[in-house]
Amino acid sequence: MTQIVLATHNAHKIAELQAIVSGVRPDIEVVGYDGPEPIEDGTTFQANALIKARTAARHTGLVALADDSGVCVDVLGGSPGVFSAYWAGHRKDDAANLELLLDQISDLSRDEDRTAHYTSVIALVTPTGEEHTVEGIWPGRIAREPRGDGGFGYDPIFVPEGSEKSAAELTAAEKNAVSHRARALEALVPLLAAL
Ligand code: IMP
Repeated sequence: MTQIVLATHNAHKIAELQAIVSGVRPDIEVVGYDGPEPIEDGTTFQANALIKARTAARHTGLVALADDSGVCVDVLGGSPGVFSAYWAGHRKDDAANLELLLDQISDLSRDEDRTAHYTSVIALVTPTGEEHTVEGIWPGRIAREPRGDGGFGYDPIFVPEGSEKSAAELTAAEKNAVSHRARALEALVPLLAAL
């Protein structure tokens, strides 16, 4: 059994990746990472995902994966973007982040002015220094008020394209079938197959 490491403490993310990996490479086991954490000071999702994956590869000697994600609002030039988790300050407060974003675009009443997307970038780094990134995008718009209590982060105000419901009103299975992370994981499959 070959091991690859996913730079996260989130057991959900490990299980989600293991399910995808098992479909293409049943000989690969995904393990979590508990080594030193790097400072994520990149200005793009790609840069931050690579920073995390490089650190995990260096400290484990294994092929390492890391993801970085966020919500990008068109009228705000792609913000919050890489600052999504800390948009309202360093408390990493989902409710405050969401309220601030709603306030920032409160004068825009037309749906077509409130377009946004979630982005997920996954980096793959080998111990020999080979580096790849893949990206998944989930297009939608920002609602005028929060709805639903599923998901996390900005899900109560993110309405996926073609949907009337917010992402927080979808079941976990519905979200996981189409989300930015699911799309990035799909794009990762050829890289996993070639390991
Ligand atoms: P991370 O890459 O998992 O650390 O996520 C960064 C931040 O982006 C989160 O704290 C959320 O604010 C936002 N975000 C990323 N993915 C999602 C999602 O699927 N739903 C809601 N918010 C998300």
